[in-house]
Amino acid sequence: MQSIDLNFDQRHIWHPYTSMSEPLPCYPVVSAEGTSLFLEDGRSLVDGMSSWWAVLHGYNHPVINAAIEAQLHQVSHVMFGGITHQPAIDLVKKLVDLTPEALECVFLADSGSVAVEVALKMAFQYWHARGEKRHRVLSLSHAYHGDTFGAMAVCDPSNSMHSLYGDYLPNHLFAEPFTVGFEDQWQESAGDHLKSLFKAHHQELFAVIIEPIVQGAGGMRFYHPNYLKLLRALCDQYEIPLIADEIATGFGRTGRFFACEHAGIVPDILCLGKALTGGYLTLSAVLTTRHIADTISNGDAKCFMHGPTFMGNPLACAAANASLTLLTDNDWQTQVSHIESKLKTALYPLKNNPHIRDVRVLGAIGVIELHHPVNQAKIQQYFVEKGVWIRPFNRLVYIMPPFVICDEALAQLTDSLVQLLSRDDFTDFIKPE
Ligand SMILES: *Cc1c(COP(=O)(O)O)cnc(C)c1O
Repeated sequence: MQSIDLNFDQRHIWHPYTSMSEPLPCYPVVSAEGTSLFLEDGRSLVDGMSSWWAVLHGYNHPVINAAIEAQLHQVSHVMFGGITHQPAIDLVKKLVDLTPEALECVFLADSGSVAVEVALKMAFQYWHARGEKRHRVLSLSHAYHGDTFGAMAVCDPSNSMHSLYGDYLPNHLFAEPFTVGFEDQWQESAGDHLKSLFKAHHQELFAVIIEPIVQGAGGMRFYHPNYLKLLRALCDQYEIPLIADEIATGFGRTGRFFACEHAGIVPDILCLGKALTGGYLTLSAVLTTRHIADTISNGDAKCFMHGPTFMGNPLACAAANASLTLLTDNDWQTQVSHIESKLKTALYPLKNNPHIRDVRVLGAIGVIELHHPVNQAKIQQYFVEKGVWIRPFNRLVYIMPPFVICDEALAQLTDSLVQLLSRDDFTDFIKPE
């Protein structure tokens, strides 16, 4: 077998958020099965990342493989303009069933960032159709909603380097960091800032966008359900569409099928992605209400102005249909609550560790927040030597395994973390600020 040319890779291929002149090392994967990634040199790694929230049922899953293969022999792609197909209809039926009743009009897009663009455009066109020109969105500090310009503009300004893009990004509004965590005691005063922001700015706002309960790439922070309830109430009061970006949190990851359920709220626009296809292919969906869809459709444009080439790709829809069936068949709720209790048992005792600022667990997500950023190359090498795939960023070391992980593999993930933190030379793995 030809060996993977890492020099070529370093020289010519951009990886996520890396430098082309001083790239971080990359590990060559040749295959994957269940919760194991196999490296070219024969080593296997337990996957602690679910390939960024996406892989739920493990790699190389016979049921999803079969669904994609069957679809491949029917039609792998066809334009969605003027054409429809069964995999898309099946998928949209499932999504409409799985989500709250009010969400019934579905746009199938091709990635999470594009779903966020679509959601923002829907809200924008909604106001335009009502004859009001509104130009700002309210988002949260530490938010992450994707990497395209529209999505980036609603990401936390310092994490996404808004200053770099200057006037090119619209000037949206950001609420101060929330003060009450998921497990903390709620205090009424924790909502005062939001209330005053809405009061002062509601007439400028065409949407509010949030990651419900769990903020992902912007800091892996979990906030109190009452905060989300308050956001919903304020959006109702001022008639502003609430966009829930469940691209990371959807499909059971937080212990509820959708994270909005922790607060019992229904958004006006819902973005789904990442785990939608069980981590097989890129696909996203944006769901909205009949009211918003009709208002947009009766506006000046008479239609919604978006239509990606690979919209509703049949292979991706087939993978999504198989993955959603597996979630139910596998009893995802039992899988996730089992992982949650194992993560709590293994990680909560670390709360007293002097290197650690905070430990958080919710559903199948375990987060260790350090006081200092990690030395990424060095810590990555350590984990690979331990036979696990955990990819920290900045001050965060976190585990979010596929739901099908067995106890032994999960223990391997948590043990490697616990052992790392108890090493005498741990400070070699971090970069003091
Ligand atoms: C990953 C992510 C996105 C962007 O999705 P891509 O498919 O990477 O474009 C948007 N929002 C949230 C909350 C995400 O976690």
